[in-house]
Amino acid sequence: MDAKTTAYACPRCTVGRCAPQRTTFADVYQGQLLCIPNTRAYICDICHFVEFEQELLDALWHELYDEAAMDEMPPVAPHKRGSSYSDGSG
Ligand SMILES: [Zn+2]
Repeated sequence: MDAKTTAYACPRCTVGRCAPQRTTFADVYQGQLLCIPNTRAYICDICHFVEFEQELLDALWHELYDEAAMDEMPPVAPHKRGSSYSDGSG
């Protein structure tokens, strides 16, 4: 399949062109600053609007959540109590 390697019209300013470049992806994850240098993104040459590839973000979050899931216990279903009943005759 063809990746979109060409520049496209900027969705924000509609004047500039978003061209594939490398930049540092920075975001806050669970209170920690997350920096990934040399990340591919489309950057507008006029307003410097930055758009990261959705696939990349998906993969990134997937990795992070996977790691987090390893550390934590899986959610436990609420324990259901059986209603107590007295033993009676027929
Ligand atoms: Zn722009």
